[in-house]
Amino acid sequence: MTYTGRGSVRPHFVLVPMLLQGHTIPMADMACLLAERGAQVSFITTPVNAVRLAGFVADVEAACLAVRLVELRFPAAEFGLPDGCENMDMVQGKDLLLNFMEACAALREPLKAHLRHSAPCCIVSDKMQWWTGDVARELGVPRVTFNGYCGFSSLARYIINRDKVLEHVTDENKLITIQGFPTPLELTRPQCPGSLSFPGMEKIRDKIYEEELRCDGEVINSFRELETLYIESFEQMRRKKVWTIGPMCLRDSNTMAARGNKASMDEAQCLQWLDSMKPGSVIFVSFGSLACTIPQQLVELGLGLEASKKPFIWVIKAGAKFPEVEEWLADGFEERVKDRGMIIRGWAPQVMILWHQAIGGFMTHCGWNSTIEGICAGVPMITWPHFAEQFLNEKLVVDVLKTGVKVGVKGLTEWGNEQQEVMVTRDVVETSLSTLMDEGEAAEKLRVRAKDYAIKARRAFDEEGSSNNNIRLLIQEMGNTTNASG
Ligand code: UDP
Repeated sequence: MTYTGRGSVRPHFVLVPMLLQGHTIPMADMACLLAERGAQVSFITTPVNAVRLAGFVADVEAACLAVRLVELRFPAAEFGLPDGCENMDMVQGKDLLLNFMEACAALREPLKAHLRHSAPCCIVSDKMQWWTGDVARELGVPRVTFNGYCGFSSLARYIINRDKVLEHVTDENKLITIQGFPTPLELTRPQCPGSLSFPGMEKIRDKIYEEELRCDGEVINSFRELETLYIESFEQMRRKKVWTIGPMCLRDSNTMAARGNKASMDEAQCLQWLDSMKPGSVIFVSFGSLACTIPQQLVELGLGLEASKKPFIWVIKAGAKFPEVEEWLADGFEERVKDRGMIIRGWAPQVMILWHQAIGGFMTHCGWNSTIEGICAGVPMITWPHFAEQFLNEKLVVDVLKTGVKVGVKGLTEWGNEQQEVMVTRDVVETSLSTLMDEGEAAEKLRVRAKDYAIKARRAFDEEGSSNNNIRLLIQEMGNTTNASG
């Protein structure tokens, strides 16, 4: 508990995000949502990541929120990582991922020492920061986990882990039926979450899962009305409290600013370009923060965008990693599409772009943050999953919500593995763009449903909205736990 003077008490939440943009961004939003409703928040980070969080800090300060950034020294060198390698997106190659995870776990003692005198009421930790279970037990406070998934994917992942569904599956192409899932669900092994593997990952995966089973509840970046059946089933199966408190991106008052990193381009210029486009005419193409699309596939995608003749914004993270893509872009492509195409190299102000009225479709890798940001934007999607739980998010969008079309990817685009083949041809890209963006009844239905979910998303934050209520309940419940035990 923290006393704020004049007798008022603010429950003190400690947020421990995974050091990875797709996981840190929603937790930064979570910090603000909690603080706006009366909590005090310590947000745990490291010096290099703190620099990336400058926009968040400015936002917190402008809104006078009780959120404090706590910087712990990251032991990169002790774990064989280059100096300054403090974010998973800086890790060069799969062989160093285990080192990175172990360096994260070494934050355990510094965090304990820091929290010993600051009386937290609860730790909300990314599931990947499994070692916070130990910290919470030692401090005698509850630990709530955040896995960054939606309810649909959380449930599927839980069943797959609980029933060891993948244990004896060797055929990568075999369709596996997920028994016990409330609606029919079939996946191949590579499409299941947890397919990312690197030396030593098995041990860490077990620890993550063990600590998830011991946790005191889960928070989910979704809203009940979007996927009621799956969230309720998840809660029943988990036999734990599940608080849906999203879409957390809706909290972001400052959508002009890029989230997670500084934008790589002039945001005002980007807005000006969007303003000059017809409403609903532009397709936004972005594959998240851990881009791993191979050069040949990027070229094929570009040729499909060109053939479609539709306006587009394409975020490419090729850069120094794939100079051949840069060469290809410069060798005529950019010139040919300059009147209707904008290429953003590096980090895009994604939410600002998505929520602009010129955007009529979103080609996404189906990371959950991108997916929920697309849902809030009310735009239909072309789904192009790469890895992790993205194939499940695709199923939610296409089969359940019916607000998107699949580009038709079947296999994994594995992170850190550039030895892959082109999976989607330019013709397929072009066809999917026409399906989504053209006139016609099918496309119109997608658009209507997408708009409807965007309205429902906003209602979740009405005074009596489900997510708004859940955040208040979470604060209340955790505050009471501390009162009872203290
Ligand atoms: N993002 C962004 N600009 C970019 C790429 C990503 O703002 O150029 C943000 C995006 O809006 C989302 C997050 O980074 O909030 C990516 O998370 P997601 O779960 O979609 O995918 P991941 O990167 O974790 O695969």
